Amino acid sequence: MSGDTQNNCFNNEFICVPETDLPRIVVVGGGFAGLALIKRLKNKPVQLVLIDKGNHNQFLPLLYQVATSGIEPDSIVFPFRKIFRNYKNILFRMAEVKSVNVNLKQLVTDIGSIDYDYLVIATGSMTNFFGNKNIEMKGLGLKSVADALDIRSHLLQNLEKAVISCDEKEKEKRGSVVIVGGGPAGVEMAGALAEFKRYVLPEDYPELKNTSMKVYIVEASGKLLGEMPEKLSARTLGYLTNMGVEVILGTVVEDYNGDEVKLNNSVTINASALIWTAGIKGSLFLGIENKVINKQKRIIVDRRNRIAGFEDVFAIGDVAIMKTREYPNGHPMVAQVAIQQGRNLADNLLAITNSKTCNDFVYKDKGSLATIGKKKAVASIYKLKFSGFFAWILWSFIHLMSIIGVRNRLLIGLNWILSYLSYDKGDRVIIRKFNYFD
Ligand SMILES: Cc1cc2nc3c(=O)[nH]c(=O)nc-3n(C[C@H](O)[C@H](O)[C@H](O)COP(=O)(O)OP(=O)(O)OC[C@H]3O[C@@H](n4cnc5c(N)ncnc54)[C@H](O)[C@@H]3O)c2cc1C
Repeated sequence: MSGDTQNNCFNNEFICVPETDLPRIVVVGGGFAGLALIKRLKNKPVQLVLIDKGNHNQFLPLLYQVATSGIEPDSIVFPFRKIFRNYKNILFRMAEVKSVNVNLKQLVTDIGSIDYDYLVIATGSMTNFFGNKNIEMKGLGLKSVADALDIRSHLLQNLEKAVISCDEKEKEKRGSVVIVGGGPAGVEMAGALAEFKRYVLPEDYPELKNTSMKVYIVEASGKLLGEMPEKLSARTLGYLTNMGVEVILGTVVEDYNGDEVKLNNSVTINASALIWTAGIKGSLFLGIENKVINKQKRIIVDRRNRIAGFEDVFAIGDVAIMKTREYPNGHPMVAQVAIQQGRNLADNLLAITNSKTCNDFVYKDKGSLATIGKKKAVASIYKLKFSGFFAWILWSFIHLMSIIGVRNRLLIGLNWILSYLSYDKGDRVIIRKFNYFD
């Protein structure tokens, strides 16, 4: 990349980045997709610039365990600068991208602008409340470690408030949680909360032992884990019901005021917490033409993750939607798709910069897993569909191996072993106030 202003550290308008003759690839977002691409391009003849609004990568599949006091937040995050210690070709800049000018090939961030030769948008997704302002204001999303800590604090604060109330109805409301969305995140959250209620609550809050606090899961479609085969959805329903979770299917949550959840069948549930896992949309910044953005705010890309009309702008992971014959509605928004797209695009970028041929993206579906609680999980792997203890062991092993960093793996492994032996949860502390509803 050659540009007059790009190495001027005293110019406020541009981010300070050394000049180079190598092609500059600017990657926005260091999640599963962005990081997979960067790892593949480690020490290759390109200048990589990662821009992320946070200074760390987050392992989102275990957020629910942070939210339910199962593991420490530190064990599912990893700082970018530590990951890149042995990289010779990457610069990290913590900044939020605000817009792109594709004609000038320039990104605008909250700390200045930067020029690129190739731009990779890997900004993931965010919670979609489908325009319901009340739910957005009073409900809790689960898309980051900060969200998980908000949920943890809110749930624990509610229990502290339940203890000091003399009104049985108030106690019940304070302890009740409604989870909206019966996908993997909702199901895993419901299972963890049911275990918390059954094993931790009587020990930590003996005064609340006889209060009828409830965990509800409300799903608009007729089944839980909609992407899974019928048999595994039914098994999940059985597990949750046996654990005391009230599963409400074929029902839509219409409104929430912080105390009452209104369902579309005129039923009202009293609950001081509503956790929304029912929808996501692409996390976008300005400057991308509307004609390449779908209704879910995802960027429409071709088989090589290119945005229509541009040779040098790409989108990967949750923010991208690629329609193929096998996936006419796009690939599932899961980590494996993001990782595989990141790797394929890395290979293609090297091919482009060496005037070689690029390859289309082909998704290799390795299957899906969800855990519902201790010794309870469901697995659909190739033609194998199974549930129970072995599915749970497999889920635990795959998740542990996917965590970045030996320290994090050890921390999580130790937490899981302790909680396997005792059903106890490790991290029941309120470290931030989260009571703006009251
Ligand atoms: C609670 C939960 C549970 C999940 N469980 C599973 C599971 O069990 N299995 C599975 O396969 N998938 C699971 N997923 C989905 C999986 O996490 C996503 O598919 C995956 O994270 C997508 O990767 P990504 O790189 O596209 O985005 P992300 O991993 O979300 O990364 C996006 C990055 O972009 C950064 N960013 C966003 N906007 C900007 C901006 N404007 N400027 C700068 N930086 C920006 C963010 O800080 C973030 O680091 C789960 C997701 C959630 C939320």
